[in-house]
Amino acid sequence: MIIQPKIRGFICTTAHPLGCAQHVREEIDYVKQQPKIEGPKRVLVIGASTGYGLSSRIASSFMFGAATIGVFFEKPASENKTGTAGWYNSLAFEEEAHKAGLYAKSINGDAFSDAIKEETIALIKEELQQVDMVVYSVASPRRTHPKTGETFTSVLKPVGQAYSSKTVNIQTGAVSMIDLEPATEDEISQTINVMGGEDWTLWIEALNDAGVLAEGVVTLAYSYIGPELTKPVYRNGTIGRAKDDLEATAHRLTEYLVEKQGKAYVSINKGLVTQSSSAIPVVPLYISLLYKVMKEKGLHEGCIEQITRLFSEKLYGDHQPVLDEHGYVRLDDWEMREDVQQEVKALWEQVTSENFEQIADHEGYRNDFLRLFGFAYDHVDYEQDVDPMQV
Ligand code: NAD
Repeated sequence: MIIQPKIRGFICTTAHPLGCAQHVREEIDYVKQQPKIEGPKRVLVIGASTGYGLSSRIASSFMFGAATIGVFFEKPASENKTGTAGWYNSLAFEEEAHKAGLYAKSINGDAFSDAIKEETIALIKEELQQVDMVVYSVASPRRTHPKTGETFTSVLKPVGQAYSSKTVNIQTGAVSMIDLEPATEDEISQTINVMGGEDWTLWIEALNDAGVLAEGVVTLAYSYIGPELTKPVYRNGTIGRAKDDLEATAHRLTEYLVEKQGKAYVSINKGLVTQSSSAIPVVPLYISLLYKVMKEKGLHEGCIEQITRLFSEKLYGDHQPVLDEHGYVRLDDWEMREDVQQEVKALWEQVTSENFEQIADHEGYRNDFLRLFGFAYDHVDYEQDVDPMQV
C-alpha cells in the first residue's frame, strides 16, 4: 500500500509505520544525547502512545533505564487500513527498548474502564511487582464512567459568555473570525468528567489498594495555562475547568499517598502541536505564532525536549523538585516569558490570511502536524509500497 496523509479537519486518518518509527527513534536519539540521571526504575505511563505521554515513556526508559508499562487506546492496522500513529509509535518504541535491553510492555484498551486497570495491575504484580512512577497523560474527547456506564463528551467552549476571536485553518492558512457560544452547565460538567482528575484518582486508588505502588511513589499529570489571548477558550473555558479539577486532584492525591511518602505533581507544560491541541479552536493560531517567536529566540521545544527538561531540571537530579508557589512544575516558563508573550501579542494583532505565511510559523506547524502521523520525514520514501501490518 502507498500510504499518504488523508486529512479530515484537524485529524489525519492515515499513519505511516516507517515515519512513526522514525519519529520514535529521533526522540530516543535526543534523550541518549542528554546526561543520564538517577530516577524511577519501574514506570507506568497511562496515555503512552503519542504526545507528552510517549515522550515520558521514552525519557523514562532512556534517561533512567526504567522498565515501562504503557497503556493507550489505539487501532491496530488491518490488511487495507493503516493503524493509528500511536499504534505504530508503540510498536517502534517497544522494539527499540528491547534492543537496548529494557523491559517494555503495552496494554491497548480503554484506560477509563475497570477491566484495563485490573489487567495493568495483574501485569505489574506478575512482572514488576511495584511501580515507582505513574504518569497520567490521557487526552480524550469521551469517557464512559466505569461505575455508572454513563458516557461523557467534552466540549471546547467558553464559560459564562460568548467569545469571538481570530482563528486559522491550518491546512489553508486562512485566518478568520470564529464565534463560540458559552457552554451549558451540563457541558461544563461533562468536560470535567472526561478531562478532570477523577480517572487519575481511580487509577491511583486501584494501584494502591492492590499494593503495587512503591514507597515514595511519584505520580504526575500534565496541565496547561497559556496566555490571555486564549484564556476565554482555554483556561477560563470548559477545558480550563477540567484542568482546575485535575490540579486540585494532585493536592488530594499527595495527601492520600502521605503514608507511602508518595507525591502527586502537576506539570504545566508548553503549548505545542499534538493530536489533542489541534482540535482546540483558536489555539493552533496562537501556537503557530508562538513557534515563530520561540524559534527566533532559540527557545523552542517539542514534547521530548520538554519532558527531558522536566525530569532533569525540575523533578530529578541532585536537587529538590522545582515548584512554583502553588506547588506546580512550570515547564511553560519559557513560553510565558514576558518578551515572548509581548511579541506573540503584537503578531496576533497584525495577523491576516494575507500575511499568515510570513509572520507565523505555518510550515513548522504543518510539518509537526504531519509528523504526528509519520509523514514529512526526509528519510522516509513515501512512494514506497508498504504493508501496513508488516512492521
Ligand atoms: P495526545 O492526544 O498526543 O495523547 C493522548 C494519549 O491518551 C494517547 O496515548 C492516547 O492513546 C491516550 N488515550 C486517549 N483516550 C484513551 C483511553 N480511553 N484509554 C487509554 N488511553 C487513551 O495528547 P497530549 O497533547 O500529549 O496530551 C496529554 C496531556 O498533556 C493532556 O492532559 C493535555 O491536556 C496535556 N497538555 C497538552 C499540551 C499541548 O499543547 N498538547 C500542553 C500542556 C498540557
